[in-house]
Amino acid sequence: MHILVINCGSSSLKYQLISMKHETVLAKGLAERIGINDSLLTHSPKGKDKVVVRKDMKDHIEAIQIVLDALVDKEHGVIEDMSQIKAVGHRVVHGGEDFAGSVCINDDVIEALKNNATLAPLHNPANIMGIMACRQIMPDVPMAGTFDTAFHQTMPRESYLYALPYSYYTDYKVRRYGFHGTSHKYVSQRVAELMEKPYDAIKTVTCHLGNGSSITAVDRGRSVDTSMGMTPLEGVPMGTRSGDIDPSIIEFMEREAGMTAQEVLNDLNRKSGVLGISGISSDFRDLADAAETGNERAKLALDIFCYRIRKYIGAYAAAMNGVDCIVFTAGIGENAASVRAAIVSKLSWLGIELDEEKNNTRGREARISTPDSKVQVWVVPTNEELMIARDTLTCITKD
Ligand code: AMP
Repeated sequence: MHILVINCGSSSLKYQLISMKHETVLAKGLAERIGINDSLLTHSPKGKDKVVVRKDMKDHIEAIQIVLDALVDKEHGVIEDMSQIKAVGHRVVHGGEDFAGSVCINDDVIEALKNNATLAPLHNPANIMGIMACRQIMPDVPMAGTFDTAFHQTMPRESYLYALPYSYYTDYKVRRYGFHGTSHKYVSQRVAELMEKPYDAIKTVTCHLGNGSSITAVDRGRSVDTSMGMTPLEGVPMGTRSGDIDPSIIEFMEREAGMTAQEVLNDLNRKSGVLGISGISSDFRDLADAAETGNERAKLALDIFCYRIRKYIGAYAAAMNGVDCIVFTAGIGENAASVRAAIVSKLSWLGIELDEEKNNTRGREARISTPDSKVQVWVVPTNEELMIARDTLTCITKD
């Protein structure tokens, strides 16, 4: 049984074909510049050389067709024909309050996705385009949608409601939704397996630290709070996003700097975070290099990033009345040992002891706390595609 996992952006399409028997990736790739000129597909089949196909893709329908052609190609393909693809799993950014788990896609689901598009105007329309394109090309193949927001639908009201006039929520759906849910779910489940504890018996703080970063409190298998909010702008500072700020800054900059609210928001999304503070880069490798050669603002950016994450971990330990385990994942969490060490360095009050040697690891599952540490600390590489494939399998076998 093979499942094709698709993650559509407005001009890109990432895919993985996963064989569910042993959960192995048969091929993965990326179609870029869809609807623009010079479109290309980078296709990496398991056990064969990577290929780059340069071919015009005027829309997502053409992109999917080129992906399918690559998958069945005589030379760099991995399956004999399309009938081996038993289902397609789509990553969808925003499920609003309509979806607390993955679902089989039908007309009603597509309608609900369209209704939620105002909550994620940059992402949901692209996800819908991918779904419609697959429907057209593979009309008989069942499809499921997995939502970045769904895992966080278990949050209680005191976590997800902002202290705003209640009508903002009832009339406009203004509330915390949270994102990266598929990743937080995957690593929290996986760490329970690694710790050999039941998922519904442990309290975990999951730190997804990548270009976008978010922290989640997972209390016995349920997300009970998460740092991103109504949009991914809230929470810890990120590569280019500010994270939490005083909202009055927007009006202040309008008044004092003659900027529009839109311009300030653009800065908050694209020119803030560690890029804004350092003035150098949003990439943590560049920041680490610069800090090492004495660049004070690069060091400050790293210090602020680690400090603010530490505050969230402390807050979530309090929110759950305890914590058994902290997990680091995504590009920074999986690779940046110095960032992990700086974050947990002042969490000794929680009984955390880091094993510096074990922390010197990257990109693989590892327990990085000492055996005596009261709270276990782990690195668990995320695998959102596998989670989507598993959920898709569950959806199509249920129906
Ligand atoms: P992601 O969004 O999960 O792909 O993560 C991307 C981020 O991971 C980038 O900002 C990189 O700075 C960071 N990253 C990737 N590899 C490393 C590394 N070896 N050391 C530090 N940061 C890394």
